[in-house]
Amino acid sequence: MDISTVLRDAAGGHRLSEKEAAALLKVRGRDIFEIFSTADILREERAGPVVTYVRNQNIHITNICKNLCGFCGFGRKEGDEGAFCDDRDTILKKVALASSRNVTEICLLSGVHPGFTMETYKDILSTVHGAAPDVHIHAFSPDEVMHAARQSSISTKEVLERMKSAGLSSLQGTAAEILADHVRSVICPRKVPTADWVRIIREAHRMGIPTTATIMYGTCETEGDRARHLAILREIQDDTGGFTELVPLSYVFQNTPLYRDGIAGPGASGREDLLLIAVSRLFLDNFRNIQVSWGKLGIKLGQLALLSGANDLAGTMFSDEVSGDAGAAGADYLDPTMMDTMVRDIGRSLRQRCTDYTLV
Ligand code: SF4
Repeated sequence: MDISTVLRDAAGGHRLSEKEAAALLKVRGRDIFEIFSTADILREERAGPVVTYVRNQNIHITNICKNLCGFCGFGRKEGDEGAFCDDRDTILKKVALASSRNVTEICLLSGVHPGFTMETYKDILSTVHGAAPDVHIHAFSPDEVMHAARQSSISTKEVLERMKSAGLSSLQGTAAEILADHVRSVICPRKVPTADWVRIIREAHRMGIPTTATIMYGTCETEGDRARHLAILREIQDDTGGFTELVPLSYVFQNTPLYRDGIAGPGASGREDLLLIAVSRLFLDNFRNIQVSWGKLGIKLGQLALLSGANDLAGTMFSDEVSGDAGAAGADYLDPTMMDTMVRDIGRSLRQRCTDYTLV
């Protein structure tokens, strides 16, 4: 494959094939810079020069989880040291703290508690929405939707409807990890299979509930698996237009069973991190927004990601025990002043946005 030709075609509007994407993800040597540069040009065309961020706060309600995925350092079994599950008062205190920080978005990021039912999810949403009615609630993954449906013997559509009426503004596109069942059976065997993840996301989009799209890469998948995953996202987006952005999540390996057991290595390299962003920009011609997870990449690599196709710096977060427990340092909070410094240094400007990417 001639890389320059493929890149010239992509820049000219040709839709990359899955095979071409897989080949680009494998590139080593100085050709990677040509890929980054083309992706940066397409970023400018599709999303403009401004780098955005959302003022948000993560709230972890429980780390007790039925899934205990091999790539996760956050999930615990009930009774394990450090296991917690917040009561209503604790949730209200966390929401009050988020409100005092003037966030526009609250992100509920928790384990999939084996005892939670539809009622529990509804109560959580009503509590958060009641205490912060003007704040966008970005919560729950297709795996949690499936769990609520099973626990309460209702359909996933009904779960989504009830979540929406209890205050859910957008659904998380998490639990996607790598949408290839042979990889899922190794890294997250208890999570929804690919077909259910896709079905629930499509149901949400059809109901007018937007979602993010994520990819968690760097465990034991191949470049072909990553390209397959991106192809599934592109196909859904063609049909529904319901994804707000792609959130690439680089595997944080230190405190995870997959690494401890020798099944996965120490995650993606810097080359792979930047190529994932760049190839996503080239391949996902129907996505406007590609995000940098600064908590996983760090500030310096995150800055280069903004020059390789990304246009968004995610959120302030204030707390990210999921990345922190897995071993990421400094993953909790990034002050917008620091974001501004990062962005100005590469000759761009920073703007605060809402969850739906309208500028504040
Ligand atoms: S990644 Fe999510 S679902 Fe998997 S163990 Fe961790 S908290 Fe549970």
